[in-house]
Amino acid sequence: MAPIIGLTTGVTPGFTPIGSIRKGMKVSAKTKEGKDYMKMVDLEYFRFTSRNPDVEAVWLRDVGAEPQSLQVILTHATANEAFTSWQEEWSAGGMVHQCDGQTMVKHRLPSGRMSTAPAPCPYFAGAAERTIKNPGCKQVGRLTVVIPQLIKAGHVGPVIFETHSIHDLLSIQAALEEAESQVAAAGNPMGLRGIPFRLWRQADEISTPSTEEGKRVRREKWLVKIAPDHVWVAVQYQIAQRAALSLPAGGGPAVGAEDDVEEGEWFALPENDNPDEEPSPSTEPETAGGTPGESGKEEAPEPKTSEPLHSSCTRTASFLLGSLIVLISPNR
Ligand SMILES: [Zn+2]
Repeated sequence: MAPIIGLTTGVTPGFTPIGSIRKGMKVSAKTKEGKDYMKMVDLEYFRFTSRNPDVEAVWLRDVGAEPQSLQVILTHATANEAFTSWQEEWSAGGMVHQCDGQTMVKHRLPSGRMSTAPAPCPYFAGAAERTIKNPGCKQVGRLTVVIPQLIKAGHVGPVIFETHSIHDLLSIQAALEEAESQVAAAGNPMGLRGIPFRLWRQADEISTPSTEEGKRVRREKWLVKIAPDHVWVAVQYQIAQRAALSLPAGGGPAVGAEDDVEEGEWFALPENDNPDEEPSPSTEPETAGGTPGESGKEEAPEPKTSEPLHSSCTRTASFLLGSLIVLISPNR
């Protein structure tokens, strides 16, 4: 389809979300004066909602009514794409503005239309004041994930997990950036895509604003943590270990061994290819045959423990695809 300028141009690629994962729920409560109102309570589990009752039914059946831990798969390559964070102000009529803490990227005009023209956030610029009743724009983080059980049941599309906790925002961002750097170090072109992660609730005592203006109290909150699945982590350590063992003691390219090395593959040196450098004790047991000084002249024999890094990465990609299949396969 040819794009319509201003309408279908600049659309972020992606399937329509099929549901939301929340941390809290609105319950009815009474004020001191006996007036009914709805208040948001923090849950100890993940609450799932979808406009499609079939999707909700699959969640209930295959994930559970009150799961505290979820297996999720990321569909974006980078931490910043997978997890977006903004400050947003909402009213009964919808979003009032979205900003980065200083500059609004979206704001509602008096006419009701949304403008994407950059403008200063009124709370940052001092044009509006934050109070308990009108807290202004607040942080919100949204993580886009795929739930293997929903895909398996034929419901294709991402699910958005939303959090307003600053603790969640920081820990999720840090965990995804760490995973992203590990993946980048391994040279995996897929980025975070396809990596199985675990998302879980964890009780923690944190400092929160009191109902009294300007005061803070310590409360137990069920925060959200994310980390790659332990199987994936184990494979990453294996890859890193292989790469470390393949490198000469200094960590750089082997001096004097260039003859046997194809361009761009210096990291694929067999361990016995560095006769002039002091051998690292950890590599000694693996050095099979070959007199030091001569081994460097031999054709690189298919090394058992030092295959090229990129081949490990290709295998990692297949492993990840495999793990996705395992995750969504029956009998699990
Ligand atoms: Zn703002």
